[in-house]
Amino acid sequence: MDSKIYDFLIIGAGSAGCSTAYFLQKSGKSVAIVDREGIAGGASGVAGAFLSPLPGKKNSYNTFVNEALDFSIDFYEKLLPDSINKKGVLRVPNDNFSKEKLENNDIEYEYFDKNKLQDTSSNFKDIDGYFYKNAAVIEPLSICNKMVEGCAFYKKNIDKLVFEDDIYSIQDIKAKNIILAQGVSRSLVKHPYIQISPIFGLRVDVKTTTKVPFNIHKSISISTNKDDNTVAIGATHERHDSSQLECTTTCDKCIFYVDSEKDQVDSLLNKAKELIDLENLEVVKTYKGARATIKSYFPVVGKIVDYENSLKKYPSIKNGTKISQDILEYYPNLYIINALGSRGFVFGPYLGKILSDSILNEIPIPKDISTQKLFYKAARKELLI
Ligand SMILES: Cc1cc2nc3c(=O)[nH]c(=O)nc-3n(C[C@H](O)[C@H](O)[C@H](O)COP(=O)(O)OP(=O)(O)OC[C@H]3O[C@@H](n4cnc5c(N)ncnc54)[C@H](O)[C@@H]3O)c2cc1C
Repeated sequence: MDSKIYDFLIIGAGSAGCSTAYFLQKSGKSVAIVDREGIAGGASGVAGAFLSPLPGKKNSYNTFVNEALDFSIDFYEKLLPDSINKKGVLRVPNDNFSKEKLENNDIEYEYFDKNKLQDTSSNFKDIDGYFYKNAAVIEPLSICNKMVEGCAFYKKNIDKLVFEDDIYSIQDIKAKNIILAQGVSRSLVKHPYIQISPIFGLRVDVKTTTKVPFNIHKSISISTNKDDNTVAIGATHERHDSSQLECTTTCDKCIFYVDSEKDQVDSLLNKAKELIDLENLEVVKTYKGARATIKSYFPVVGKIVDYENSLKKYPSIKNGTKISQDILEYYPNLYIINALGSRGFVFGPYLGKILSDSILNEIPIPKDISTQKLFYKAARKELLI
């Protein structure tokens, strides 16, 4: 048995876990990371991975997204410049994003009419749109691998957490603190106020002789040509009726894809065709995965509140009595980073830094993404227990 005691053990080696590992390790902490599938073996290896601004009139959500975007693009450019391709994105108006919404925002943009697009490439269809230059596409696998350089990696399935004498013993790995970055998988502790549900999706990589000058987004995204000359097209969004549904199998065996993979690929290609003519198109690979989301669409990070014991100690929380978050009951030395939704690589580094700063330097976590916000909301509504 390895006698080393790590400062942190992170469970889940996707964008969330790897980003957190990066910042903790940079601060001099010893970090181990485990994943049953390998590094970026979950949703993170499936992602497009497009990084795009969220236009529209300023609100707390798009402000958060756009701050995260600025931070993360800058981070990836410094971390691994060869794995980020920042050529901007053309957003074509649709029902959700009207012209007004695309124009009415604080983000810099340029309007491209159809003549301008035709001058750029005669393969563009009869479309116009809004060009945002702060947008990119990245290589998720190389980025995740780079972020955990210097951390110990174990390929293991973890089925329980054991905490004794202030130390977690997870199979043969010992650590002082645990960070759960499990995506859609069943959580290793109970946190009924954080209800993660999956949104399934599929994307494809295609080969084409067409040069795509920048990313294009309408209801789906098409990437600019990558170094291997493939173009990513993604992604479908399928939410199952039950918000409680958990992933119990790998995507390849999931009934959802087995039944509908071809339809989903066709739907992506048809939507792409409405934007640009991709000549000599050949699908080279399909990717399937599930995004972890909660209803608010904000991600969640921080110390994990012990719901049952907090309410046992302070039952009046249910009636709206204000009890400071500092005196709630928490699982010892246990943190979460999850619900990155459709923007896992926009949020990853930004949240990894926030979580690491809160643990190491006691910098408060913004309320919108805190575990406590979800806890109070659920407790006061008596939604649970
Ligand atoms: C089709 C598709 C397209 C997408 N496109 C984009 C995009 O263009 N841009 C973007 O920013 N985001 C995109 N996303 C979203 C992005 O992929 C996710 O938000 C992000 O990958 C989530 O990262 P994560 O680390 O939280 O989860 P994951 O990457 O799923 O990582 C969780 C990991 O935890 C491991 N794990 C869980 N429990 C255990 C356990 N008990 N023991 C061991 N290992 C465990 C799993 O194996 C998994 O690898 C897309 C997602 C999908 C599905």
